[in-house]
Amino acid sequence: EAVAFDDLISTVIARIEPAVDKKNIELTFSSSGELEAVVDPKRMQQVFLNILDNAIKYTPPAGRIGVSVTGSRNEIITAISDSGIGIDQADEPYVFERLYRAEKSRSRLQGGAGLGLTIAKEIVELHGGQISVQSTPGEGTVFTVSLERGDLYEECIAD
Ligand code: ATP
Ligand code: MG
Repeated sequence: EAVAFDDLISTVIARIEPAVDKKNIELTFSSSGELEAVVDPKRMQQVFLNILDNAIKYTPPAGRIGVSVTGSRNEIITAISDSGIGIDQADEPYVFERLYRAEKSRSRLQGGAGLGLTIAKEIVELHGGQISVQSTPGEGTVFTVSLERGDLYEECIAD
């Protein structure tokens, strides 16, 4: 299914808006144009929901979250950045692993199973894409999702 990517992201942002407002976080969304991609819309929404859920959870009140979508003929790249607590270098390689939660998160009151990113990665890879993280502790984190715009839909499990 060819999906308008901006609409997909906008739908997810609308869903998280209450939580963003509640924490007085400033969220900005930028896109380089009307991009379409062949994806499973429900599952791809889940990917960005999980990443944004983290961005909200691990960013202190009055912080910033940015979502930017850029694309070329072959690829759509979505970057989700936050001004949150960041991820220690030692934890970074493991955040996509099942049930893994960084020390800082485990000791926090806010819950979580350590599954959100595992699920996100699984879905992205089912679409033939890649997900990566870059973080500076105390400054913030950027998650990047790259998707090829080809006909990879068959690789997704049908509902
Ligand atoms: P769940 O998503 O299952 O509710 P979770 O948020 O702890 O629980 P993941 O979403 O898989 O689990 O994230 C794994 C870990 O990676 C988190 O516990 C946290 O330590 C770290 N992490 C993920 N995103 C961020 C972020 N934006 N800023 C700081 N740390 C993060
Ligand atoms: Mg999570």
